[in-house]
Amino acid sequence: MNDLVIIGGGIIGGASLYYLLEKGYDGNILVLEANDALAQKATSLSAGGMRNIWSTTVNMKMTTYSINHFSEFKERFGVSIGFEQNGYLFTYYENEWKDIVNFKPRWDEAGVETALVSPEEIEEIIPGLRASLDHLDSDILEMLSISPIVGGIFGKSCAILNTTTAATTYFEYSTDKYPEKVQVRLNTEVDKIIIKGGKVKGVLTKEGEMIGCEKVILASGAWSAEILKRSEIPEDQNIPVVPVKRMLFVVSQPKSGNYEKIPLTIIDNGVYFRPEAENLIVGRADENQAPGFDTEPDRSYYEDYVNLYLQARIEGAEYCRIQNMWGGLYAINTEDHNALIGEHPDIENLYLNTGFSGHGIMEAPAAGLSIAEIIADGEVRTIPEVNMLNFERIRKGELVKETIVI
Ligand SMILES: Cc1cc2nc3c(=O)[nH]c(=O)nc-3n(C[C@H](O)[C@H](O)[C@H](O)COP(=O)(O)OP(=O)(O)OC[C@H]3O[C@@H](n4cnc5c(N)ncnc54)[C@H](O)[C@@H]3O)c2cc1C
Repeated sequence: MNDLVIIGGGIIGGASLYYLLEKGYDGNILVLEANDALAQKATSLSAGGMRNIWSTTVNMKMTTYSINHFSEFKERFGVSIGFEQNGYLFTYYENEWKDIVNFKPRWDEAGVETALVSPEEIEEIIPGLRASLDHLDSDILEMLSISPIVGGIFGKSCAILNTTTAATTYFEYSTDKYPEKVQVRLNTEVDKIIIKGGKVKGVLTKEGEMIGCEKVILASGAWSAEILKRSEIPEDQNIPVVPVKRMLFVVSQPKSGNYEKIPLTIIDNGVYFRPEAENLIVGRADENQAPGFDTEPDRSYYEDYVNLYLQARIEGAEYCRIQNMWGGLYAINTEDHNALIGEHPDIENLYLNTGFSGHGIMEAPAAGLSIAEIIADGEVRTIPEVNMLNFERIRKGELVKETIVI
């Protein structure tokens, strides 16, 4: 009999494992991963960006914690995760700018380092970027529905990192340090969680193997609600988490300057880009993307849509051609775009750590720490605001609405 099973070998499962052991959890832990390798799903398919610029305090605190953790990762684990603190740069039009300026004191109070930057400064940070749109014809402006950039927010502690290495390090470190306590099984897909009398009793694998356990951490990202559905719980006990495809495009850099150290930058209509060796990674969340497990990348989404915004804004961006592309799944909490962290209110010993809605890399250390505290101490102590991310909030209508979502 295992004491605890973690379903999912992504960064959330890894961070949960690491922090449980750091907190002195003394039962044995079994990690079950459906794939033939760890961290191959959303974790490795992500843009690897982390920012602490948010509208909600809980997200600011979680990501600030995570940024500090990742900045010390090499000293702690002896492994380099390509952590580069080049910052995040959000750009704004006239109609949004006042709200940003008014919000700035909230970031200052929360210790989130932000600087308001002028259009001229933005042009210096991103070579070839034109804040004004004087160079464009009015029909293009109308078609793209874009406006001049009047200012930006620069978050200098924000960063990028190699997510796969970070996630696998959690597992390797844990299995090396506690070989008698931890077991990781690949190619083991959980069919359902066995629940009896409102309590976790174990899990059943797709192969039909029954694995008894006292506790389960559900860290299976976009697949979490499907697993619960198969566990035959009443519909109203299932979580509002759906898989939604998001695509990334690796494209060549514009020739307008050196892009190697630019911040992760968000321009018109939510188009974002960041350096990736001699290329750029470019993305944009398609609001028309229907939920589902399809992950096929669509070249025309970049060529006929996303690239037009790059071209309008950055000199020479028509030459930013696709070198590589992929799709992955966000686990979107449809109610408030925030994670679900904590014990399920109706199922004893079922711990949720899922629904990160596109920000699970940057919250992983804080989420791992928090679930470990909930299991060990019954509540989150280091970042108490995380307690409000329990599933109960959805039923009570106490949503934690995040407005700065990319
Ligand atoms: C294109 C894209 C860009 C993104 N960019 C960013 C970003 O810049 N910054 C950021 O913070 N976040 C980003 N994200 C989101 C981030 O990747 C996720 O929030 C994060 O990886 C969630 O980690 P996870 O461990 O929950 O999920 P995953 O990495 O998906 O891990 C879940 C694991 O569970 C396993 N699993 C599923 N079902 C079962 C089962 N039945 N039995 C056993 N195992 C199972 C899967 O195989 C998988 O390995 C991005 C996501 C995408 C898709």
